[in-house]
Amino acid sequence: MTASATAETYAARLEHTLPALRERVDRAAQAAGRATASVRVVAVTKGHPLDAIDAALEAGLSDLGENRVEELEEKVLARGREAVAWHMIGHVQGRKAKRTAELAHLIHSLDSERLADRFARIGAEDSTQVRVLAQVNTSAESSKGGFDRGSAVESIHRIAELPGLKVEGLMTMAPLVDDEAMLHAAFGHLREIHESLRSHTKRVGPELSMGMTNDLEIAIQEGSTMIRIGTALFGERGGPA
Ligand SMILES: *Cc1c(COP(=O)(O)O)cnc(C)c1O
Repeated sequence: MTASATAETYAARLEHTLPALRERVDRAAQAAGRATASVRVVAVTKGHPLDAIDAALEAGLSDLGENRVEELEEKVLARGREAVAWHMIGHVQGRKAKRTAELAHLIHSLDSERLADRFARIGAEDSTQVRVLAQVNTSAESSKGGFDRGSAVESIHRIAELPGLKVEGLMTMAPLVDDEAMLHAAFGHLREIHESLRSHTKRVGPELSMGMTNDLEIAIQEGSTMIRIGTALFGERGGPA
């Protein structure tokens, strides 16, 4: 976090970054023949201080994403759980599953059957359903998490049957490349896996969480319903954490 960033600078930054982002989304949606309102912006505040959250809320953003449970907890405790829709977008360790389920409204990073079983148990114990997106490793890069592309349909079909779990859709992270064909391939894979799942079961919801600062246009073209945007809104996360 940068110590020099004040509420003023985040608010001032959003005054130009948010309209610029909205325009990118509008243009991409239009080009794809889709309604702009069908693409939700999850503002990724990881690595930025509470000032960024306050500025985001003030600017009308209502979905915020964090990738570490500790940072999510800090921010939820500071601003309240009901102030916004909190999204967990990073890997969740098993022993932190319960806390994550209590804090986040939607967990994008359900990346294994084991974690699914754990969340399902937590949901069942609380007589509720933990809302998740199943993450798929569409690029087959070993550094990326998620269900393997080849067995994703089978695995996710199974976990979607768990009563304590509500699978709202799927999520993926594209490879870190500029190659548009590779990005189309990754997002297209997620869309195909989603279509296949939804033709087999009614227990997988309509959401597709894909697209970040550098690849949101291609993600929208491939059917994204949630883009996760940090840098384009808040600037670089740099400096010592
Ligand atoms: C950090 C992060 C983002 C936001 O990335 P930007 O390139 O800053 O927009 C999106 N999704 C996940 C899972 C992230 O960890």
